[in-house]
Formats: sequence, structure tokens, C-alpha cells
Amino acid sequence: MHPANGFLPHSLMEPFSYFNKPAVLPPQNSNSPNNNISTLSPKKQKIVELSRITDFIFVGNQVAANSGKDLQDAGITRIIRLRSQPTLAVPDCISSVTFCQIEDLPSSNILSCLAQCLEAIRAARLAHESILVHCHAGKSRSPAIVIAFLMLEHLFTLREAYSHVEKCRNGLAMNPSFKRQLGDFEFEISGRRTVRFCPFCGEFDCFCLQSQQFLPPAALPFSLVKMGPHGGRPVDLTKEGAQQWSGG
Ligand SMILES: [Zn+2]
Repeated sequence: MHPANGFLPHSLMEPFSYFNKPAVLPPQNSNSPNNNISTLSPKKQKIVELSRITDFIFVGNQVAANSGKDLQDAGITRIIRLRSQPTLAVPDCISSVTFCQIEDLPSSNILSCLAQCLEAIRAARLAHESILVHCHAGKSRSPAIVIAFLMLEHLFTLREAYSHVEKCRNGLAMNPSFKRQLGDFEFEISGRRTVRFCPFCGEFDCFCLQSQQFLPPAALPFSLVKMGPHGGRPVDLTKEGAQQWSGG
């Protein structure tokens, strides 16, 4: 079955053979100047405005979207704007703006923007132009859309796509509701789930369960071989790790 079946209008579905085409990814090093194009100011160097995710897709914040120089330096000529309001100035170097009205709220359906964004990203690829997907901070809405794109078009798992975007863009802080929606999206398009969500905080790869020291391992709701956040050291809570975890 076509992976996009039921999720997208028929007009947006590509031939199945396309889906095996690998994404062209930049080096996976968040400190690489090729990935993080600009920073806010010397005093706020950790806040990155513009990050390269694939050969032609960038994620950024509102500052990046307003910075004609940064956009020009990165060769970006198209923008997808995920905001609550469309009324914002457009730098001269931008020839196409796609506006998707969405707020960064738990109640927002991030996938409601996907068809429109997919169309704009594919148009950029066909034209051999680079595109910026941006929201206010570039930490939640825009990375969620690019992660969905990588899953749908390049058959990344959610874990792979999230990990890749996280490595390319410092300070990702995605709305947990969007993560759960992406988890459901993964199940819809592939029939499997590559991340498990914590029943306490709704996140994945969290440390909540380790802090629940009063609970015996048997009381926990699912398998507890977990990865630490940001791809850190695996935390095994099922064997020796459980003793340490329960204070035993
Ligand atoms: Zn948690």
C-alpha cells in the first residue's frame, strides 16, 4: 500500500518508487557552519536562526525569515510560514511564500498543514531552489513539518527523522502534542512505532521514569530499555539498572 494512502489528497501522492530515494543530508554536526547558518547575536550565540536540514530544506525562526542577507547567503528563495498571522514583510530575495495558519498549541493539528507544505517543498525541489520552513522560534512547528516530510518522502522512521533534525538544529523544543501526532502519523504510514511516549510527561526519551523511585519495576507500564535524551547513553531499567533505579 502507498505509505501516504489516506493522509494526503490523491493529487499530492508521488509514484511509490520515489519513496526509496534517499534524502541528501548535510553533515550531522550541529556545530558545522554549513548547518547553522547564523546566530542571533554574540551575546546569544546559542540561539540559531537558520539551520540546514537537507540539501535544499532549512528550518529557522522569524528573525531568519526577515533577514534578507542570511536568506541570500544560504541561497533561499522560498518560504513556508507557519504562523498565526500572515501579515509579515517579505525580503526581496524571496519569490514564493506559502502561509499556513497554525499556532503552537497542544490543540493544534500540525498535520493539517502537511499537504500544503509538502506541495511547496516539492515545488522548490522541482525548481532546484532552496526553501526555509519557519515559525516563530523554529523549535516546534517548523521542525515538526520537516520531520513529517522526511518520514513521508524519504521513509525515515520518526526516531531517525527527529534525531537528524535535532542534530542539525540546536535547541529543538517541540510541543509534546506534535510529537504524539507524529507518532500517530508514523503508525498510519508505516504500521509501526519507533518511539514510545512517557505516560507521565508525554515526551519520549525522558528521565521521568527514573525519578519515579517509589514504583517497583513491575508497576511500570512498558518495557524500560530507554535511550537517554538527545541520543545519550542507553539506560537499562530492566536488569541491573532497575536496582540502581529503585535505590536497591
Ligand atoms: Zn516522561
